[in-house]
Amino acid sequence: MSERYDVIVVGSGAGGGLIAGELADAGRRVLLLEAGPHKSAADYTRWEARANHEMWWPIAWAEPTAPDQPPMPLFRGRLVGGTTSINTKVALRPSSEDYEKWYAAAALMNDDGEPFSEADLLPHLERVEQRLGVRVRNDWQQCVKTVAPAFHELGAELESVMSYTDENCMRCGSCLQGCPTNAGKNTLNVYIQPAIVHSDLELRADAYVRRVLMEDHGDGLQATGVEYASADGNIHQVHAEVVVVAAGALSTPGILLRSGLREAAHDSPSSLLIGRNLGFHVARLVEGLFDKIQDAHAVYPITAHSMKFQRDADGGFIVEAATIQDPIGFAAALSDDNGVPLWGQELVDLMRRYRYFTGLLTMVNDENTGSVWVDDVGRDRYSINFNASEQRRIDASLAFAQDVLRKAGARRVVQTSTLSTHVQGSCRMGSDPQRSVVGPHGESHDVRRLFIGDSSVVPRTLSVNPSLTIMALASRLAEYLAGDRHGYLPASSRMPVAAA
Ligand SMILES: Cc1cc2nc3c(=O)[nH]c(=O)nc-3n(C[C@H](O)[C@H](O)[C@H](O)COP(=O)(O)OP(=O)(O)OC[C@H]3O[C@@H](n4cnc5c(N)ncnc54)[C@H](O)[C@@H]3O)c2cc1C
Ligand code: SF4
Repeated sequence: MSERYDVIVVGSGAGGGLIAGELADAGRRVLLLEAGPHKSAADYTRWEARANHEMWWPIAWAEPTAPDQPPMPLFRGRLVGGTTSINTKVALRPSSEDYEKWYAAAALMNDDGEPFSEADLLPHLERVEQRLGVRVRNDWQQCVKTVAPAFHELGAELESVMSYTDENCMRCGSCLQGCPTNAGKNTLNVYIQPAIVHSDLELRADAYVRRVLMEDHGDGLQATGVEYASADGNIHQVHAEVVVVAAGALSTPGILLRSGLREAAHDSPSSLLIGRNLGFHVARLVEGLFDKIQDAHAVYPITAHSMKFQRDADGGFIVEAATIQDPIGFAAALSDDNGVPLWGQELVDLMRRYRYFTGLLTMVNDENTGSVWVDDVGRDRYSINFNASEQRRIDASLAFAQDVLRKAGARRVVQTSTLSTHVQGSCRMGSDPQRSVVGPHGESHDVRRLFIGDSSVVPRTLSVNPSLTIMALASRLAEYLAGDRHGYLPASSRMPVAAA
C-alpha cells in the first residue's frame, strides 16, 4: 500500500533536519529519510577509526581536470543529523560581500524584486542562533595562547569565535566523533528528536533515496514522492505533496540526475546546471611543533579566528586556531613543504611528539569552479579546476599560517594537503533560470513541488563556515512551505507546536 505524507525530506543534516523538524512543528505530517544510521550521544565514543567508519561517508575525491593538481579529499557525515553531528559547530554569519556575490552569481532577489541581502536572511539567522544557543567561545587554552602573540605581531589579531555548544562542553575535543555530552548542538538534538516527541515527524534511518518520482499530466513536471532502499535491500516508494531534497551538495545533484530530471526537462538551461558550480571553501591544516606540550587535541577545537583577510581584496581567506586531528587522521595527512606525504622514521619521530603540535586551519574563498557528475555506471563523481585567483589564495593562506607558526616559535612546520569540509553550490538558487537550478524559495525551475534545502543552493561559496547560513536558508524554506502560498499542501489537521 502506498504511504502518503504532506512533505518528504531527504537527508537529515543542516538543511534537511531543520526543515523536517520545523515543518512538523508547524503541524505538517513529515517523513524524514536518512541514508546513515540513527545514533545518539549515548553511542558516540572517541574511537577515531570506528567513528570514521560508522558516522562518516567514505572519503570522496575531487578529481583535478588539470594534470598538475593532486586530487582533493572531501569529508562529510553520514548519520542522523548529517554533518552537523560530526562538525565543530563554529557559527558565523555571511559577510556583506557574500550577499553581493550571491546576487552577481544568479540574480538572487527577494520577494520585492530587490537583490537578496542580509535583511532578508537576518530573521532566520537570529531564529536559528536562538534555537542552537549560539554563544561566544573565549576559553582559549595553551594551544591558542601559543600562537596568539604571533597573529598580533603580524597585524592579524585573533578573535573569539561564536559556536553552537552549550556550557556542558567539557573541552574533550571529540566533536568530530560526535559530542558525547550533547553540549554540541546538531539537527538531531535541536530539531529532529523534539519534533519526533512533540510533533508528527517520522524518521527512517538507513534509508538510501535512489530517485525522486515525477509525473507530467500535460501541465508540466511535478514531484510526487521518492524511491528508497532500506537496510534490508528492499525498495520502497513513498508519496507526498512536496518533496525536499537535502542530501548535501555532493549527493543532491546525483539524486536529481539519476531521477531523469534533465531528460524530463528536455535539457532546460536550469537542468543543465545541476551539479555545476560546486564550491569547496578549500581548507588545509598547518601544524607547528613546539617545545612545550600543547594538547591541541584535548580542547574545544576552534575558539579563535583571524578575519583580517576575509574579503577577496584583502587576501580571500580566514584562519582558525587552534586544532589538530586525532592521531590516525594526523599521521595519514601530514606532508612536507612539497606536498609529499611523510612516512617511515620521520613520521614515527613526529608522532612521538604529537602532544607538542598545535595547528591552524586555513579556509579560502573560492569561485565555484568544481562540479558533481554521474558516470556511466551511475556513481557520483567530483571535479576540481581551480583558477588562478583561487590558487593564489590557497598559496597565500598557507604562507601566512606558516609565518604565524614560525614566528610563534615552532621548531618544525608541516601541513596537510588541501581538503574540503564545506562543499556548497552544486544546485544554486537564483531568480534567473538561465543561471540557477532552483528559484529564490528553493523550488526547482523545472519540477513543481520539488524543493532543494541544503548547501547545494548557496549561490556562491561563503567566506565563513557555512552551517549557520545553510540552516537559516532552510528555516526560510520551512517558513515558506508552512505558509503554503503555493497551495501545495492540504489544510492542516493539527495545531502547530510552538518552537522550543
Ligand atoms: C569535519 C567537519 C567540520 C565542520 N565544522 C563546521 C563548523 O564548525 N561550522 C560550520 O558552519 N560548518 C562546519 N562544517 C560544515 C557543515 O557541517 C556542513 O556544511 C553542513 O552540515 C552541510 O549541510 P547539508 O544539509 O548540506 O548536508 P549534510 O549536513 O551533510 O546532510 C546531508 C545528509 O543527507 C544524507 N544523504 C546523502 N545522500 C542521501 C540519500 N541518497 N538518501 C538519504 N539521505 C542521504 C547524508 O547522509 C547526510 O546525513 C564542518 C564539516 C565537517 C566535515
Ligand atoms: S569539545 Fe565540547 S562540543 Fe566538542 S565533543 Fe567535547 S563536549 Fe562536545
